Amino acid sequence: MEIDEKIIEEIVNEVVKSTKSSGGEVAATGSSAGNLGIFDTMEDAVNAADEAFKKYLHCSFDDRRKFVQAIRDTALDESHLQEMAENTVKETGMGEVHYKLAKNRLAAEQTPGVEDLYTSALNGDDGLTTVEYSPFGVVGSITPTTNPTETIINNSIGMLAAGDTVVFSPHPKAKNVTIKLVQWINEALEKAGAPKNLVCTVSEPSIENTQAMLENKKIRMLVATGGPAIVNKVLSSGKKAIGAGAGNPPAVVDETADIEKAAKDIIDGCSFDNNLPCTSEKEVIAVDSIADFLMFNMKKSGGYELKDPDQIKKLVELTTVDGKSPNKDFVGKSAKYILDKIGINVGDEIKVIFMETEFEHPFVQVEMLMPILPVVRVEDCDKAMELAVIAEHGNRHTAMMHSKNIDRLLKFHKMIQTTIFVKNGPSYAGIGYGGEGHATFTIAGPTGEGLTSAKSFSRIRRCVLCGVGKELL
Ligand code: NAD
Repeated sequence: MEIDEKIIEEIVNEVVKSTKSSGGEVAATGSSAGNLGIFDTMEDAVNAADEAFKKYLHCSFDDRRKFVQAIRDTALDESHLQEMAENTVKETGMGEVHYKLAKNRLAAEQTPGVEDLYTSALNGDDGLTTVEYSPFGVVGSITPTTNPTETIINNSIGMLAAGDTVVFSPHPKAKNVTIKLVQWINEALEKAGAPKNLVCTVSEPSIENTQAMLENKKIRMLVATGGPAIVNKVLSSGKKAIGAGAGNPPAVVDETADIEKAAKDIIDGCSFDNNLPCTSEKEVIAVDSIADFLMFNMKKSGGYELKDPDQIKKLVELTTVDGKSPNKDFVGKSAKYILDKIGINVGDEIKVIFMETEFEHPFVQVEMLMPILPVVRVEDCDKAMELAVIAEHGNRHTAMMHSKNIDRLLKFHKMIQTTIFVKNGPSYAGIGYGGEGHATFTIAGPTGEGLTSAKSFSRIRRCVLCGVGKELL
């Protein structure tokens, strides 16, 4: 039988067209149809995550468990860990490789999975009622520069465990590391047999793309991990929103504390990834009688004390914008790097720059996100607690206290109302690093979910079976 060339051409065109529209192999290589979760437009990314959600709804809890494990495994792959840490430092210009390794590992190992969700049951004469955690649908997650990959590992695990799919809108300064990680996650999920596009993002992150995400009707929940501008935006979006915002964590030290340990904890917490975590110590408020001994020990633990008022003034001019906000060029830079810019050369053993200041000083009031630590001296512990509450600016984020007086610890806990309160330890103990409890990089103070996990990204639903209670009892 003879077929003329025109018919053959028509058949080929038809086949190519249908392969594209069904999202098959040809489509998967085009970026507008998604390349391992990466899409040209926010609309395409959300549509893909929405289609994925419809399939994901029919997966079992065991499937979810398997997919979460696949995310953990790919994030913990040694070559991936190393590449993420090195490239994040290069791309964002912030933090240190060894801390990034520790933070990514923490997110992959200690973010709870499906075990975070449990069903409760009521059984009585009128029947059996179960109360279950159910997914929201497609979650829009906005992620910061300060913990870019940690937040994506952390939120992907929590959101997929909850049965949601997720579209990430990262900070443009963390574009490449985000895209790479989302691709690794999709590769791992595909190998584990998951529906395509459970985790998506865009090829060109931008404020406009975030705005498009906020406005997209298919996004059922928004999660903002960042500063006040984005948190306020998601809270006024009209959608269910979780706001994980800025902090300015104080560390109070009273005369009953183990001062040598307090000094070390404070330096270790403050210098963790060059002070990038929103939880890290940002100012110390110390009782006069121990303030000198505390600072003496801070020096022994890697602190560099600046005493010259001119040098302190120079540092303020360099690292802040008019004393009102941090100069972004210095966010997440090392103490050694910052000191060098004001003409002081130190070795790698110096982890934090500290100085005694008055309470009103910009270093106390501004969330700097740099290893610069002001120490405010006060007459007694009551004054220290009072000022710490003011310095925290009502963020309800994180606070530390070093004291052996239980009554004072309890009083400060009640006064400050922070989501995380660490007693006699470094700040990072509060996110599960050397402290009990799960890890998170999305700490929702403003909206009250606390240290988020799968539960936070779930809806609570009641399922009622009538009239069989007696037989079941
Ligand atoms: P950022 O607020 O500049 O950016 C965070 C995200 O929001 C980015 O994706 C950015 O692109 C987006 N964004 C910011 N302003 C926006 C706007 N007007 N419209 C649309 N999108 C906008 O913060 P950052 O420098 O990346 O991160 C540091 C800040 O985040 C600090 O204030 C820190 O305390 C906070 N943070 C909080 C948590 C938490 O869990 N509470 C965790 C990490 C960081």
